[in-house]
Amino acid sequence: MSERGPVSLQERLSAIDEQIADAARRADRDASEITRIVVTKFHPAQLVQELAALGVTDVGENRQQELTAKRAALRDAHGPGLDQLRWHYIGQAQTNKAAAIRRDADAVHSVDRVKLAEALHRAAADLHPLDVLVQVNLTQDPGRGGVAPDEAGALAERILELDTLRLRGVMAVAPLDEPPAPAFARLRAVADGIRRIAPDATWISAGMTGDFAEAIDAGATHLRIGSAITGPRPDRG
Ligand SMILES: *Cc1c(COP(=O)(O)O)cnc(C)c1O
Repeated sequence: MSERGPVSLQERLSAIDEQIADAARRADRDASEITRIVVTKFHPAQLVQELAALGVTDVGENRQQELTAKRAALRDAHGPGLDQLRWHYIGQAQTNKAAAIRRDADAVHSVDRVKLAEALHRAAADLHPLDVLVQVNLTQDPGRGGVAPDEAGALAERILELDTLRLRGVMAVAPLDEPPAPAFARLRAVADGIRRIAPDATWISAGMTGDFAEAIDAGATHLRIGSAITGPRPDRG
């Protein structure tokens, strides 16, 4: 069968969940401790609605305007699962978008600098804490998102001082020019270090379509899977 062809969204979702379960078994882990976030970027709000109807509880977006537009589009929609959806912001974030991101996201995976953490903190509209993760750059290229591994601890310490933010753990994207396993092992080491100062920061957000099995092996608790479930992304607008 071709990747798109007759295969339905539901079939792709089940196929990925089986692969997640297999990888968890091989890693001697309990698949129920792994959250599968479906990355819906560039797809219409309608797809989010279909995913929610299929039981998906967690979706990911990487651009603030798109996140805001989809939440607005679905605000008055009625459908199974929509009320329970958790929205994960996984893209690079500009400080001047912090208020909108805070309003529209339930968790922000991409906190990579003190200024952004502080902007998210200042944007708090109520006492409800925002879940945040420290994004770690596993490449040598400072232009990629994320804080350098040896600076992650200091950023985590600053986040712990901001009482409207709840530090949940770390996030990373595997480098393109290296196999994912050793990169995820470095992320794991950063996660372990942060857990020593923040015992509740247990999330490791890692693993995409091409490398989620390796991420599960390295202890990932949150997978961000897009195209394997949604099919190829439409051209970005
Ligand atoms: C797009 C994206 C994903 C999902 O990528 P796929 O390869 O389609 O699974 C995961 N994480 C981030 C940060 C992304 O931008």
